[in-house]
Order: sequence, then structure tokens, then C-alpha cells
Amino acid sequence: MMEEEVVKSHVVGIDISIDSTTYAILDIRGNILAKDSFLTSDYPNVNDFVSKLTESVVLMMEENGGFMSFRSVGISAPSGNFLAGCIANAPNLPWKGVIPLAAMMRDRLGMAVAVANDAHVSALGEYSYGAAHGMENFVVISLGIGLGSCFFSRGQGHRGHLGYAGEIGHTCVIDHGRKCSCGKEGCLEAYTAAQGILRTAREVMEERPTEHSLMRSIEKLTPRLIAECCDKGDELAIEVYRRTGYILGLGLANYASTVDPQAIILTGGITKAGKWLMEPLRESFEEHVFTNLRGQIKILRSHLNDKEREVLGAGALAWVIPEYSLFK
Ligand SMILES: [Zn+2]
Repeated sequence: MMEEEVVKSHVVGIDISIDSTTYAILDIRGNILAKDSFLTSDYPNVNDFVSKLTESVVLMMEENGGFMSFRSVGISAPSGNFLAGCIANAPNLPWKGVIPLAAMMRDRLGMAVAVANDAHVSALGEYSYGAAHGMENFVVISLGIGLGSCFFSRGQGHRGHLGYAGEIGHTCVIDHGRKCSCGKEGCLEAYTAAQGILRTAREVMEERPTEHSLMRSIEKLTPRLIAECCDKGDELAIEVYRRTGYILGLGLANYASTVDPQAIILTGGITKAGKWLMEPLRESFEEHVFTNLRGQIKILRSHLNDKEREVLGAGALAWVIPEYSLFK
């Protein structure tokens, strides 16, 4: 008698970030059944990293429905390339060069594994479970250590010919401006992601040396601490976010004028600055966007928890790839 086939009702969603790697078990309804994480930087050798990740995931699978109930694995990673299944030259991760992560994981797990760019996975998370649910055309911007984006259209993230679409962070906003981590000059990321905001803070303090600011007495300034200074009415800190919002609004207006989205959804740690960022951003956006789009595009902050969005999006990614199993 033939054994009845087990319905594969679970997937694994993984988020590889610069600080930590989070892995979760999701059921078919998108419930997170289990979630855990470890420090990415503890594994400077990529083979050790993949071994640690595989072992952790298999253990979690066994505790949540058993290995045979799992359909596939989705992974979100900085510089992840869905078409190649690789992490390609991620500037901020410990592993250099091109890492064929999907193949490495698939060999160890014996099931289908997909890797995608973190911004694309964020968009999938927002589309499946968040602010973009039901939207046809929208943009997700992730604003943290870097600035990523995804233009999502008709149920899919736009990947481009080589899989690198959405690098709005490395579009030029100031000709021969600040040096960017990518090697170019004047990139939007160099002004609006974490390091850029800190640099703006130093510039503002240098330009206005006689003015009091709480920022001056903070030894290790962060975008979050600058936002806290804004909350206390610190004029120089408010100026830092005013400049950041202005230039981000300009960059997003160019983006929106090109793709005409229903909404722009902002995610990531920097957005926690709230109105200090959002008010100058909205003003600058409306000033710079194509006239017929003025007042038409919603600019929203995501309400999903950052880590949850990534594993939810990675889970959604796992559902859309073809099933494959070594164990049939
Ligand atoms: Zn750049």
C-alpha cells in the first residue's frame, strides 16, 4: 500500500542582516510558529555560517511539524540576487565575493531554497501581510545602515535584467558630492542612511559652532539619539533631520515620477525618527514630484516590526518558488 503523502504546509523564512540572522517557521497562513536568531558576525567563514544556519533550521523544523512537512526556504539578504541565488559582493557582510547561498543551503537541506535582496523581501512582506496589502503598484524603501528599495508591480518585485533593480541608494543626488561606500560620489545613501545622517550632524555642528546642542555632549551619536535630541527641542538636531528629509524627499520624488506608485512605504530603523524626518520629507517630495502626481501618492511608515517583516517576506518568497525535494 502506498503511504499517504504529507501535505507540505510549512516554510522557513530567514533574514540575514549585518547584525543578526533570524530564522522562523511559518505555516500556510503566515503564522510565525517559532523564531530564533544568532549573531551573523560570529561566523566570519561562510561555510561555518551555512552549517550553523542549516543545523539550527533543521532542529527547529523537527520541533515544528517535522522535516517532511516543509515545502521550501526563503532567505532575505543584503545584496541578495534572486536570479542567481547568490549574495553578490555585499559591502557590509563579513563574506566577500559572490556567495552561492541558495545552492549551498539546498545541498544541505535537500529542498528548494530562494535568496532575494532584502528590499525585495521587505516589499513581499508588506504586500502579503502589511501596509501594501492589495496594492498593485508601490515602492518600499528600507532605510537603515544602507538605503534599499523595491518597486513592486502586479504582484511581483521588479528585479531588472541582472537582478539589481532598485538601487535608489546609489543614484546621484549631488554631483561630485560625498564619497559613498560603493565608491561613487554624491549617492542618496551617503546623505540619508545611518552614516550619512551622522555626517550631516557633524557638518551642522561645525557650521554653527556657537550654538548649544545636546548632540555635542553625546560620545557615540546615532540616528536614534539625534531623534531623541529633536524630541527635546534641540534646534541643531532638528536641522539634521530637516536636511535628511529634504534630500530623501527629492530622491523619492524622482523615483515616484519614474514609476508612478500608489504608495511609498518606508521601513527600517531611521524611520523611527517620525515627524522629524517625515515632515520635511513630505514637503520636499511634493515640491519635487511631477505635477500630475502631486498630492496623489501616499507616503507611509510600515507598521510591521522590522525583523518580523523580513521573515514573513522570506516565507512568502519560499511559497512562490517551485517545490523541490531530495526526499520523496
Ligand atoms: Zn553609492
